[in-house]
Amino acid sequence: MDPFDYNSSERATLPRNMIENTMFEEEPDVVDLARDSAAYPTFPALDPDETAYEPRSSRLLVRGLGENDVDDDDEDCESSARLLGMSFMNRSASQRSNASIHVRQSLPRSCSPPSARTTVVCVLFLVIVASMTMVLYFLPGCNFTKMGCPKQGNKTSNGTDGELFPWAQYQLPRSVRPLSYDLTFTPDFSTMDFSGHTVINMFVLHNTKRIVLHSAHLNISKATFKLGDGEASDVTILEYLPREQIAVKFSEELKAGQRCVLTLDYAASLSHTYDGFYNSSYTDQHGNKRVLAATQFEPLYARKAFPCFDEPSFKATFLVKINRKPEYMTLSNMPQLHSTQLASGLVQDEFAKTSVNMSTYLVAFVVGNFTSVSKNVSDILVSVYSVPEKKAHTNYALDTASKLLEFYNGYFEINYPLQKLDLVAVPDFLAGAMENWGLITFRETGLLLGGHSSLLQKQSVAAIIAHELAHQWFGNLVTMSWWSDLWLNEGFATFMEFMSVQRVLPELDMSNLFLAMRFRTLDRDALNSSHAVSTEVSTPEQVQEMFDSVSYQKGASILLMLNTSLPGDQQFRKGIIQYLKQFAGLNTDTDDLWNSLTEVEVSSQHPNVSEMMRSWTSQKGFPLVTVSRTGDVVNLKQEIFQLTSDNSKHSSSLWNIPVTYVNDSCSLGPECKQLFVLNTQSGTFKVAETVKWLKLNYRSTGFYIVDYGEEGWAALTDAMTKNFQVLTQEDRASLIHNIFALSRLGRVSFRQVLNLLKYMPNETESSPVREALLQLQNIYQMLQKRYKEGLVSRMKAHILKDFGVLMDKQTWTKEESISKQDLRSALLEMACHLGQEKCTQQATAMFKQYVASNGTSMIPGDLQRVVFTVAAQSNEDWESLLTLYHYATYDSEKQKLLEGLASTQDTQKMVWLLNAGLNSNMIQIQNLPLVVHRICQGLAGNLIAWDFIQENWNRLTQTFPVGSYALQSLVKSTTSHFSEQSHLNQVQCFFASLSERGSQMRSAQEALETIRLNQSWMEKNLPSLDKWL
Ligand SMILES: [Zn+2]
Repeated sequence: MDPFDYNSSERATLPRNMIENTMFEEEPDVVDLARDSAAYPTFPALDPDETAYEPRSSRLLVRGLGENDVDDDDEDCESSARLLGMSFMNRSASQRSNASIHVRQSLPRSCSPPSARTTVVCVLFLVIVASMTMVLYFLPGCNFTKMGCPKQGNKTSNGTDGELFPWAQYQLPRSVRPLSYDLTFTPDFSTMDFSGHTVINMFVLHNTKRIVLHSAHLNISKATFKLGDGEASDVTILEYLPREQIAVKFSEELKAGQRCVLTLDYAASLSHTYDGFYNSSYTDQHGNKRVLAATQFEPLYARKAFPCFDEPSFKATFLVKINRKPEYMTLSNMPQLHSTQLASGLVQDEFAKTSVNMSTYLVAFVVGNFTSVSKNVSDILVSVYSVPEKKAHTNYALDTASKLLEFYNGYFEINYPLQKLDLVAVPDFLAGAMENWGLITFRETGLLLGGHSSLLQKQSVAAIIAHELAHQWFGNLVTMSWWSDLWLNEGFATFMEFMSVQRVLPELDMSNLFLAMRFRTLDRDALNSSHAVSTEVSTPEQVQEMFDSVSYQKGASILLMLNTSLPGDQQFRKGIIQYLKQFAGLNTDTDDLWNSLTEVEVSSQHPNVSEMMRSWTSQKGFPLVTVSRTGDVVNLKQEIFQLTSDNSKHSSSLWNIPVTYVNDSCSLGPECKQLFVLNTQSGTFKVAETVKWLKLNYRSTGFYIVDYGEEGWAALTDAMTKNFQVLTQEDRASLIHNIFALSRLGRVSFRQVLNLLKYMPNETESSPVREALLQLQNIYQMLQKRYKEGLVSRMKAHILKDFGVLMDKQTWTKEESISKQDLRSALLEMACHLGQEKCTQQATAMFKQYVASNGTSMIPGDLQRVVFTVAAQSNEDWESLLTLYHYATYDSEKQKLLEGLASTQDTQKMVWLLNAGLNSNMIQIQNLPLVVHRICQGLAGNLIAWDFIQENWNRLTQTFPVGSYALQSLVKSTTSHFSEQSHLNQVQCFFASLSERGSQMRSAQEALETIRLNQSWMEKNLPSLDKWL
């Protein structure tokens, strides 16, 4: 699966919203929602009921609401606006007439001390909880249900019908294995229900008296069981809802070696969220609502569509039949065998039985109206499906998928094993894409491209296709045994996506994107709340949380490090081929991969792969390598790079680091690279005394950060100032990333950081510029959100001074080179964000021309975001953007329009956008994380969005499962720029109040940790910012 939305916030290199927050200047920060609730948008009309939500922040921004309208007596945590925005509101109010605004002047009372009565109640409560915990502790396996606990020692739980449920673990027992499934589905779009018929052929591995499998929200009406060649007879199904398991108990043991068949009839609603067998709809070009249904089963949702052994290691074959109305069509993993007219008037489509064993999470089917383009590639029929009006946007995907399929067939030396490969753009889809075997589903933005798309847009689409195609081998053919090794699927697919696109479509130059992704992954992995690449997981929330940057991007980063530290590309490739061949059709864990790569080792001077790589997958974090030099002796020391707000280091982690280095006499070509393996706490090697400086981690392919010490940094800064081209652009970018990271750690001063950036006006490449801008912008946003206006304007002046020359050099006409597109979009977005007049004028003129031309003049794809973002700052142009958004047919442009809309600084518009997203009114809820991300860039927006998240948490978690990537993104966007104690209290209070709906999420810990770090960075660095800016 690819949970990231490449065109938007998660594209690591893209700077964030670049429009200046003008709220203190002329934009009103007070809106009259009470009187004017349907004011936005004038087009299209919004049902006033749907503006019922009003974030708590906004209530304080609302003029005309009486005191009693905000009843917070029952709120445990203070509203963020009151806590966070009080100074902002008071400040705003002081600039205006006091009478014009209602601000409740009550004191903040975040987590205020409890009363005596509350204390007594709490103590009693704690005693009861402790007693219950002890009781439960001595009754392992007991689940506290209304039926009470079973007898001591009996490891069972009560099923829904009161009978003892014969299994008490999340993972299923291994005594029975499914061999094949026959599945029949009959969806009904008038009732939004479906009925199902499932036949499971099984094999008994160990004597047992029960069969346990998964089922979620399925109403099973009939179940029969047949042993061997015997007669089928009715059986009773027990269900245990909390673990989504069902069971059949037998009075006599099933014996190892026996075969048996379980047949189940059931009915269920089509899911209203983005998982299981879900319904979806879109409006076609004639304004008619079109209905369709699609599936998303990874990680735990096949059980919502059919009863099954829903774990990746229970592989089986699948035969799918779908009964549909004649006007629809269906697709599934395999080619359609035949269609039969049924007496009911429905048509039954039957698909071939899968020719391979596969995990349940890879089963897929789609019912709807689609058209396709197809092509034969090495005897495989490759097709791209879209809704009919978007057929013209499918050609790029077809061409790219065909090229990549051929590449992978050759690279892995194993041919894609199915007869066909469909890529389907589903109008309503939460993840970026899903690698279902033979039927890959995508968000429309992940697959469809208009004829005039820029190379950057092509890069996004190609990357997603390459990722999902790589999964057809990594994940589908060879699958991780359990979700704790999800990285084997995702780290590999991510690595292959960069590698394959670089080979097959070099004009899309993936190297900058991959480099920026590694920097962001280091930043995230430096937090204490990070986790090891390979981590034990058991609960559904923990499984969801594995879909994060550690599994995907750190996984890919350590594979890159391994690949570049082995001699040539071939050893790595040979190891992979061996791994795929050895485990084809099976399940593996991390050690299986390292063992395969170790077995093909060709030279003795290179490190043992297993030994080296285990240190990177079994512990969280990464090393900081410190270099010091005495004459010709270079000393290296390693320790964990961990950002902590309390300066305590409590880890004895040790890595096996393939340290690479170059020096001033030879620093550019690969032949300059030298390797030193640091597998102890410290080590030394020699260089010529004449060497002036060393740069470690050549081209930043290693997953570590380097501190050169005061002298080392001075020497490198000096070299870069004299001639920055003595280092590759990756090395220049990595110096910038590392020095900012070290500044966060307190190892270097901000003066050293600014000194290194002095060479910037000469820089010509996008990676170093993007990295510097991104780092500076983070600080800029934190200062903004702490109302440090003096520093904000000095920071702005400083950025314009260092980057002004480069900004002025950028063009606004069509640009062919992807690296130039990348460079200019970064610079121009920053320039316009800082209000540089030349930039905003140019963007405004371009937008006016675009609107006036009625779609005949085009805005280059890489400039769309900056142009739309500038346009969104004026009322009139925002309205135009909304109209354009409504009618846009090119998905990538539509997304840029949405990013523009959400960068408005008008609080009323922000509230409307958030509600529209939440209610899927004009803005699909799948785009809500993107809207929130953009809105959060300014202070007022951040407050409004944070309140919105809190107020709507329950609704959000119904659509986005707890722990899911979408929810992680919402939490990160709304909290990552807070840096004050009041913010911290608020966030802490909120998550503490959630209990099982999210308080244990890793992203909650990450949010708190990030705020604490921001807070301590600000405390330490404000004086030096004041001095050096
Ligand atoms: Zn994936």
